Amino acid sequence: MEPMILFAEKKDKEDVQQLLWEVGLGISGDIEDHVLLRVEGKVGAVGKLFQTSPNRFHLEVLGVRNDQRRTGLGGFLLSALTSWPWNYCRSIISSARGPYEVTTVPMHDTGLFYKKHGFEVCGFSQLSSQYVEQCDACSDRENCQPVPMIFRFPGYKRQREVVTMPQFRILGSGAGTGVPSFFCSCPACQEARENPEYTRTRSGAAVLTNNTMVLIDASPDLRSQLVKNNITKIDSVFLSHWHYDHFSGLGELEYYVKLDRIEKLPLYLPPSAVAQFESAFPNLLDIFNIIPWQFGQRYQFGEVYLTPLVANHSIETAGLLIESNEKRLAYFTDTSGLPEETEKLVSGADWLICDATFYGENWYPHSHMSVEQAIELGRQVKAKETILTHLSMHYSQAVTTEELKSEVSRYPNVLVAHDGMVIEI
Ligand SMILES: [Zn+2]
Ligand SMILES: [Zn+2]
Ligand SMILES: [Zn+2]
Repeated sequence: MEPMILFAEKKDKEDVQQLLWEVGLGISGDIEDHVLLRVEGKVGAVGKLFQTSPNRFHLEVLGVRNDQRRTGLGGFLLSALTSWPWNYCRSIISSARGPYEVTTVPMHDTGLFYKKHGFEVCGFSQLSSQYVEQCDACSDRENCQPVPMIFRFPGYKRQREVVTMPQFRILGSGAGTGVPSFFCSCPACQEARENPEYTRTRSGAAVLTNNTMVLIDASPDLRSQLVKNNITKIDSVFLSHWHYDHFSGLGELEYYVKLDRIEKLPLYLPPSAVAQFESAFPNLLDIFNIIPWQFGQRYQFGEVYLTPLVANHSIETAGLLIESNEKRLAYFTDTSGLPEETEKLVSGADWLICDATFYGENWYPHSHMSVEQAIELGRQVKAKETILTHLSMHYSQAVTTEELKSEVSRYPNVLVAHDGMVIEI
């Protein structure tokens, strides 16, 4: 079992003092600021970190009891302190975690030990000034021969993708079962098995600008969608409605928020879904900041505006009007036609991205649309381009993507969505 690193308590003061005295060091500030490792009940190693700036720590103290030398205890403590300095430091001035550095000034001939643990020699100018002054003022400098050293953590955080123009990206273009669905061997599912570019994950989208990313719906395929689209940051989540194929990926965001983002993620929910969210995901209450969205309200994200508009679905559902400086895009994944009021608001949009769940007979005419109906709706609202999404490809009548594309090519302004489709707005 690994020994446990704990913060020192008042009662440890004498033991810590004794240990540090043996190695020519002393307690620096409060005893409670030190961390220690106990071996058979006795203090075996001691360390103390001080945060000097948001991404910079200084290791003020590191000592190992004489009879614990060469047991690996000191290296174990040093590795822990340099791997998770935030966890082992009391003087936190910033909890925003990014790539960071740890400096130290080893005494005597201990430089090699630090080198073995990832430190390299640096100049005094790299140290925070208080430590330079400390060495300058030291009467024993000749004897100490202080050599400043630095540990640079490479940082595993991925940077935000640069987009030159705001874009709307379709992450998932499939209906609830996805294509291929595991239990189906229809021509559409076979086509997707043979050619993965025809795979359709469950419905979702992203609005990306150069400084923000809004995730629209969290499909059960969310993780693979984010990886495939090289999306590294999420700034807000907007849920259209509380159906499994649109909300169940929320659980995928827990680790992102806890390990990378650190602060709560705004989650815009249908007002009627707040209670369902709370009972379905009690473990996520502390990672999301819940905002019930309101129909007709315009929400700004970077230079883009999102307005939830009423859709015709079996439960409270929003379609979104997405506006940039120049363009208007209407996104309605789950709807059966549009209420008159909504139709007016999206009239003449540059794009209507629209529910086309069924090919052939529409099993749920009050909740979804067929390909034919979606094309007709695009014409009715005078959309410049209609993009068919939320495609089941195999309810009612199966159709392959190749077949659907060739059928749709008769209409000059109708396209079939695919996963990863990008529309610059
Ligand atoms: Zn199928
Ligand atoms: Zn739905
Ligand atoms: Zn759906």
